[in-house]
Amino acid sequence: MSPTRVLVLNSGSSSVKYQLLDMRDSSRLAVGLVERIGERSARLKHTPLATGEAREWSAPIADHDAALKAVAEELAKDGLGLDSPELAAIGHRVVHGGLAFTRPTVIDDAVLAEIERLIPLAPLHNPANVTGIRTARAMRPDLPQVAVFDTAFHTTMPESAARYAIDVQTADEYRIRRYGFHGTSHAYVSRATAKLLGKAPEDVNVIVLHLGNGASAAAVRGGKCVDTSMGLTPLEGLVMGTRSGDMDPAVIFHLKRVGGMSTDEIDTLLNKKSGLIGLCGENDMREIRRRIDEGDEQARLAFDIYLHRLKKYIGAYIAVLGTVDAIAFTAGVGENAAEVREAAIAGLEGLGPAVDAGLNAVRSDEPRLISPAGARVAVAVVPTDEELEIATQTYALVGKNS
Ligand code: ADP
Repeated sequence: MSPTRVLVLNSGSSSVKYQLLDMRDSSRLAVGLVERIGERSARLKHTPLATGEAREWSAPIADHDAALKAVAEELAKDGLGLDSPELAAIGHRVVHGGLAFTRPTVIDDAVLAEIERLIPLAPLHNPANVTGIRTARAMRPDLPQVAVFDTAFHTTMPESAARYAIDVQTADEYRIRRYGFHGTSHAYVSRATAKLLGKAPEDVNVIVLHLGNGASAAAVRGGKCVDTSMGLTPLEGLVMGTRSGDMDPAVIFHLKRVGGMSTDEIDTLLNKKSGLIGLCGENDMREIRRRIDEGDEQARLAFDIYLHRLKKYIGAYIAVLGTVDAIAFTAGVGENAAEVREAAIAGLEGLGPAVDAGLNAVRSDEPRLISPAGARVAVAVVPTDEELEIATQTYALVGKNS
């Protein structure tokens, strides 16, 4: 029998998240993460789904090499080791694929070199992705390894949406354009939304609102992305947990010239100390709601600014798409925060979408409609599953040949 398991690796700068899936039924065999790699004490949490009993320990883990070895040892304890003949491939999440990678790609030396060439476009993410790939290839050089890019789903955007209105030569020289991120999630959720409507992806137009700590919106026409809110980097667009999203770029000149701040200081300010945390000192939507209930004005204003921006993007993408079949909410905030969904759609009924308060209040892990029957634009909650999407794309590419 040909192997059917796929290991999905999501390597961050100091963490590795992983899932082992069996693609016969898309079931999880094990999930886990290693955090604080390279720090004084790292933490590993591993859960084999057969028992559901998590194993957790802390010890120093120097680098990604050691982290992956530790993961392999944990998997081996459950008879799921990386040397198993049932392992078909490893699927790697890679944040930036630039213009070169429009689809999942089997990794060879040339592909790895190209991912490295993209590091200046994603200095926080691609180096860790490259390290994860190197380590996994060294451990199983014979095994197909696939890169699944966060940007790939957005490469179908027309130039009118992807280009910034700046000097063309400068833009081309420095590869400046809208790339978009969260593409694996937008692809998965837009397809799952079509399925929820009982239609083929080619036959529906969907606005996907991925609202996690990072947040982005995408306009998807007939299964293809035509616009998205993140840009050259994940800083643009919606108000996020710690990122500002859209603002006048002249703010940066002002902070430099008048505020005397360095480029790195401004980078940190806009990526790590802005968004909800900058506005009210808190980036967890649950805590913000709790503070609002206690009458906290600062939390209220942060929520209102977040919602104002979100609404602007929904309106913009209704205009971009012309006709919209569904608006889908996903990720931590989108899947859980009923108040955010209600407030985002409130007042848009004249444009087609509507939310039924009773349906919106139901908690569930399943994709579901929250709009009343007969709404011109359906509103849905569709839990995202980026690991399943990476495994599915990886297996589709190599499974049949292995
Ligand atoms: P990321 O993958 O970008 O780190 P997630 O998609 O996991 O983020 O979303 C994390 C965010 O989801 C948290 O910061 C929190 O604001 C929000 N969140 C999680 N659970 C809830 C909940 N029950 N109610 C409201 N917000 C929630």
